[in-house]
This record gives sequence, structure tokens and C-alpha cells, in this order.
Amino acid sequence: MLKFFEIYRKQIIWAVVFFLFSLNFITWSSVFAVSNAPGIAVYFFDVGQGDSEFISAKDGTQILIDGGPNAKVLSDLGRVMPYYDNSIDLIVLTHQHADHVTGLIDVLRRYKVGMVIENGAGYNTAEYAEFERIITEKNIKKIIIDRPEELLFYNGAVLKFLYPERSYDGETLKNVHDATVVSELDFEGRKILFMGDAEKNIEARLVYEGAVGNIDVLKAGHHGSKTSSNDFFLNIIKPEYAVISAGEGNRYGHPSQQTLSNLANIGAKIFRTDLDGTIKLEINKGNFVLSTQK
Ligand SMILES: [Zn+2]
Repeated sequence: MLKFFEIYRKQIIWAVVFFLFSLNFITWSSVFAVSNAPGIAVYFFDVGQGDSEFISAKDGTQILIDGGPNAKVLSDLGRVMPYYDNSIDLIVLTHQHADHVTGLIDVLRRYKVGMVIENGAGYNTAEYAEFERIITEKNIKKIIIDRPEELLFYNGAVLKFLYPERSYDGETLKNVHDATVVSELDFEGRKILFMGDAEKNIEARLVYEGAVGNIDVLKAGHHGSKTSSNDFFLNIIKPEYAVISAGEGNRYGHPSQQTLSNLANIGAKIFRTDLDGTIKLEINKGNFVLSTQK
């Protein structure tokens, strides 16, 4: 034993020092991350032609809305999550299309996910089937939005689910956009509306039902397509900022000129993932700090 210690003494001491140093580093990086973090940061990831938004609160609560068209979301998450963090509290799938669900398959494989929220509509694709298979396999709690719901989390922050207001569970739709999960983040007097791929019919319903009012930031519906961001809707919600998630040079011509001019007409400052890269929005004591990273 003694001989063993003599031989390996140097290595053992180094191992101990390294271990203590690692512990110290982990502790300090956690403290550093918490003390410098804003109340809430919202990232609109540049995932190409698709959608993915990430909400990260100072207390560590993390919510991912959609995952984009491929595994790129993993590197986006890796850049903004602490390296020792291997869990995400909630995943919201707005609807079943591949440019929203595919990246979530990789996220479900890589991270421990606490809960999944979706619209539950029937949709027959390999990507959506795989997404559902992993949820079942890992026994992840799943909630289907079939009425307005509110999720309270960090320090008065609320994620309000505004749509669908009825059950689409198992129903096959001609256009699955009609069941898009629409949510609004309210924090410190600021409101961010996540439209998924909701189109004009949902925009109109939200207005007529009084579900939306004046907001600060709009994640424009359907990648800035002319199917969405109707001027009637925009005149009610009057966002100061609009974020459009679209791929550079995408074949759909997103965002449309119509949407860009509708947004310009109400004076919204427009950010685009295809031009600006990932857009980061921090809310701290009710103030916004916006930054972009290509
Ligand atoms: Zn879609």
C-alpha cells in the first residue's frame, strides 16, 4: 500500500489537485452564470428554414419551442446552456411539420426532458412518429393543449397557451397549421408572442376572442409567409419588434414582401434569422437588450 502510494504519489496529488480545481471551477462557473444572467433570455435560433426558440430563466428553467429541421439545434443549445447541464424542463411542439419537429428528435435523445406540450393532431410522417416514439419510450409527461392554459415559472413569468382552444387530439387535419400551439411569454411587463406557423384564421380568432392585446415582440407566423401577419392582426398587437425565422435563400421565398411591408407599416423593427443569425433578447428589470450572432 505504502509502496503503491510512493510510486503514484505524484499522480495522486495531481489527481486531487485537479479534482479540487474542477470542483472550484464548476462552482464558480455556476455562480458566475447566475449572477450575470438576465431575468430571462429568449433566443431565436438560426436553424435555417425552420423554427426554434429557447427561453432560459435565471433560476435555470429552460423551455424549448420547436427544434428546427435538423440536429443544428444541438449546437445552438450547446452554445447557450451551461456545459454541465443535460436537462430541459419543457419542450413545446407547435405543430407536426418537419421543419419544427425534426431537431426535437435529437434534443429528446440528447437531453433529459421534463415535459412535452403539443396539439396532439394525427400526422403521418416518419419524423413525427419518431418524436412520439421517444416520448413513450422515455416515459416523458405529455400535455395536449385543448384550452387556454397558463404555465407559471420563474419569478412571476408566465407562458400562456392561447391556442388551440379545443381538442385536436388524434384528428387528421387538411392543414395542421390550424392546430398550431400559440403561446405568449409575459415577464416583467413585457410580452413576447410565439405564433408558430399560425395563419390568418388563427390571428383573427385570437383578436375576436380578445386573447391578444398589445405586445412587445412578435415571432411572426409561418416564417414570414404571406399566409400570416395580417395587417388587421398587426394593428391590434402592434409589436415593437418582429422576429422572422427563415433560411437564407429558402425556396419558399420567405419572408414575403407583403409581410415585410405589413410589419414596416406598423413601425416594427424587423429581425431575421436568415440575415441576422441567432437573435438573443434579454429581459432584465423590464428592459430589453437585443443582440444578434451570426
Ligand atoms: Zn408548418
